[in-house]
Amino acid sequence: MLYSGQTFLVAGLSRSGLAASEYLLSRGAKVYCFDDVEEGSVAATANALREKGCVILHKEELERRSAECDILVLSPGIPVDHPLPVAFKRAGKRIIGEMELGALNLACPSVAVTGTNGKTTTVTMLEGIFKAAGKKSVACGNIGRPLSSCVKELGEDGLAVIEVSSFQLETLASLRPHVAVVLNIAEDHLNRHYNMENYIYLKSRILKNCTESEYAVLNHDDPVVRGFAEKTKARPVWFSLREPVEGGYLSEGSFCFMGEKLFPVSELPLDGEHNAANALAAICAAKLFGVGNDTIASALKTFRGVAHRLQRIGELDGVTFIDDSKATNVDSAIKAVKSVRGESVLLVGGKDKGYSYEPLFDAVKTSGVVHTVIYGENAFRVLGAALKKGYTAVTLCRPFDVAVRVAFLTAKRGQNLLLSPASASFDSFRNYEERGERFKELLGILTEERRERPAEERLAEE
Ligand code: ADP
Repeated sequence: MLYSGQTFLVAGLSRSGLAASEYLLSRGAKVYCFDDVEEGSVAATANALREKGCVILHKEELERRSAECDILVLSPGIPVDHPLPVAFKRAGKRIIGEMELGALNLACPSVAVTGTNGKTTTVTMLEGIFKAAGKKSVACGNIGRPLSSCVKELGEDGLAVIEVSSFQLETLASLRPHVAVVLNIAEDHLNRHYNMENYIYLKSRILKNCTESEYAVLNHDDPVVRGFAEKTKARPVWFSLREPVEGGYLSEGSFCFMGEKLFPVSELPLDGEHNAANALAAICAAKLFGVGNDTIASALKTFRGVAHRLQRIGELDGVTFIDDSKATNVDSAIKAVKSVRGESVLLVGGKDKGYSYEPLFDAVKTSGVVHTVIYGENAFRVLGAALKKGYTAVTLCRPFDVAVRVAFLTAKRGQNLLLSPASASFDSFRNYEERGERFKELLGILTEERRERPAEERLAEE
């Protein structure tokens, strides 16, 4: 791929658009940039890029000036059936993503991790294990550091640990990881990918360039992921919570890999079987890169978890606040409800993504959740699912701040307040991080209020 003398249109000026533009400029390309939004942080990015030599296009000139561009670099936030990529496709021009740009220029080996849930956790585990093994590893991709911005730092002797989302897989063609990990597939992003068939197809694309010299680390317990072994030339290495497989599994309460015992599951400092599955996937990938058992064990035993994933953020009046704001789909919220010990008041709601909430209430009914507070744009859909399942321990209230206060008043001493929304955050927040931060701020505000009125009893105790 030549860059010097070519003209690119970078569409979408978030983190990946910025990285792609900077990379292309450094390679001598002419770069046009466009974003639907022209205010706030996008305006700041646009100004910075203009100063570096990019041409920032406005809506009215987009159609005319895109004709001058050879290749479109599409943000993962923009679907491939948006009018802009459709016009490029019609004109016979190439469409790539920022990650593809990185993949085309990556000179070192890589591990790529995809799946509906657990990607960031597993990638973070792996980065820690590889670092402990003395490797120059960088966690990148969907986790926050765009791949193209890491290519130089990684050089030939680095090890890229790449988190890959289904959005990125839409425009990723060249990545050929030494180890590709597929964690699980559950309903998600149906508002973007239309149906499960398409979503599953996109996930399988992570394996498409792999040959017999590469490995596919696959979840044996997930029937869809199990089927991926037939769709790739890569050698399958399995992981399972349920049975001894050719790969990573549990035996007598310990993590094992191909007949070797690593360490007791109880020493993994994270709650939930799903995290044991993530650890097994990380163990498989690390072993395939030759990391020793002791190094893997010590890195995983000291793993601190990732913010906004079942994170205990504090306590007030004997109520433990747990931030699982990253539970942006039903499957991850089910895992939270099943993993959290003791009784909880659950907070659910946000922006709808087009799936059914009924399985969540099946799980809630047999869990320690004593009451659910529903909020958000999708509140009535969530409530409808709860009632359909015969679950009536619910309160519907909005907005978020009020819902958190109501949930706190409902919780009794010794119970948890579990924010695990099963929904995207975009109805009221910029992203799930902001939602989690607001939850934490509210804990601070409530703590302050309690300090001002220490004598007031908890409503639930009256
Ligand atoms: P991703 O990067 O795929 O979104 P994260 O590691 O950020 O995954 O976790 C997202 C949410 O999913 C969190 O609520 C977390 O507790 C939950 N989760 C983590 N691993 C799994 C898994 N293997 N299966 C289901 N849910 C999981």
